[in-house]
Amino acid sequence: MDNVRVRFAPSPTGSVHIGNIRAAVFNWLFARHVGGKFLLRIEDTDLVRSTKEAIDKVLDAMAWLGLDYDEPVVYQTHNAADHLAAVERLLSSGAAYKAVKESVDPATGERKSGEVVLFRMPKEGVIEYTDLVKGRMRKKAEDTQDFVIVRSDGSPVFHIANVVDDIKQGVTHIIRGDDHVENTFKHIQIFKALGAPVPEYAHLPMIVNAQGKPYSKRDGAAFVGEFKEQGYLPEALFNFLVLLGWAPGDDREVMSRDELVEAFSLDRCKSSPARFDLKKLLWMNGEYIAHQPAEIFKAELSSRLAAAGLPAEPLGCTLDELVPPVQIRTKTLSDLPGNCEYFFKEEVDYDPAAVEKRIHRPGAKERLLAFADAFEAAPEFTVESTEALVRAEADKIGEDGKPVGMGALVHPIRVAVSGRTEGPGLFEMLALLGRDRVVRRLRAAAAL
Ligand code: GLU
Repeated sequence: MDNVRVRFAPSPTGSVHIGNIRAAVFNWLFARHVGGKFLLRIEDTDLVRSTKEAIDKVLDAMAWLGLDYDEPVVYQTHNAADHLAAVERLLSSGAAYKAVKESVDPATGERKSGEVVLFRMPKEGVIEYTDLVKGRMRKKAEDTQDFVIVRSDGSPVFHIANVVDDIKQGVTHIIRGDDHVENTFKHIQIFKALGAPVPEYAHLPMIVNAQGKPYSKRDGAAFVGEFKEQGYLPEALFNFLVLLGWAPGDDREVMSRDELVEAFSLDRCKSSPARFDLKKLLWMNGEYIAHQPAEIFKAELSSRLAAAGLPAEPLGCTLDELVPPVQIRTKTLSDLPGNCEYFFKEEVDYDPAAVEKRIHRPGAKERLLAFADAFEAAPEFTVESTEALVRAEADKIGEDGKPVGMGALVHPIRVAVSGRTEGPGLFEMLALLGRDRVVRRLRAAAAL
């Protein structure tokens, strides 16, 4: 398998859909696993959409995800002469023919006729191949039709350009989305007509939403750039994309790049649609953030604090003390510094829904004031001492004859000191904020 050559062949459109980049990820992993070559070919024949900006988006997405390629990028437009030369060969062997085709100009509605070149499909028998993911595939010749390979303006069509470039680049395996299955029957015939070996094909399953429909931008973030902006780590997105249509065969989910390269094989790819589960991605991203070296996370937090105009050090503790509890609870980098800003400024931004739910309820304000007094008077103010104090209160019997319970106390205190319903463990948070600040905030919240 060491002569394996695979390629990612995107048509730049301006944004890189995760379905497309998943194909790149699978090609890359396959090449790295077998020690073959991974190539990048930009199919830029649509001159309107293939702007420099659109091409840069593809290159940026690849760089961000660490999808390095082994040979210089090939631009399909540079191969135009090869495409037309191949068409000449097909014309002279009789595999293709010219015909006059009528068409309607979409702009003017005018009917016009022009000469096109059509590829001749077989009129009997079957076209068959074994898809490395989908198994045996076949199509009866009578269900196929001759198709255009050169338009009336002389420009070659996708099918011919794609196949000629694959031949030129010596591509051995074509791994792409299963929206291309129909094209494959055409492409196989072109390879044969040009006397080239037919590559192996692996068509990856469609990525679908919770309803089983193709995953689109209406379902949430769908483009690589969006995930980057929303604070996902490239390692997490990479890991998540591999699991859209592939599984290692054991119960591992979070896998390093080396583990993925080691474990990847096309025969473990699934043919059934792959469901895009954003909750899973969020969880996975949280796992990757939690395992980042503390120094890297700290640098990220610091730059986001600076960008938000917040101080570099928290109020009651050091940044080094704050990093561990914040890091293990951060799901995306864009949670920063919002999820911990109450450590950096005296004013708490109260989430109105949290206040409504936890503080505007019978008895809550009185309890906050009572805790303010108790914390103020306590001989010490630590994780253990604050917890002991709250627990003692929770064990007391309330008016309904039942113990008050931790929930009735922990949630209002958390909202009172942080303004939000989620964050580090409460007692850890209190100790980091410091006694005076906690007491002040409890009293302020009781007045909300
Ligand atoms: N440019 C095509 C696409 O983006 C290429 C498909 C392929 O052969 O991989 O869908």
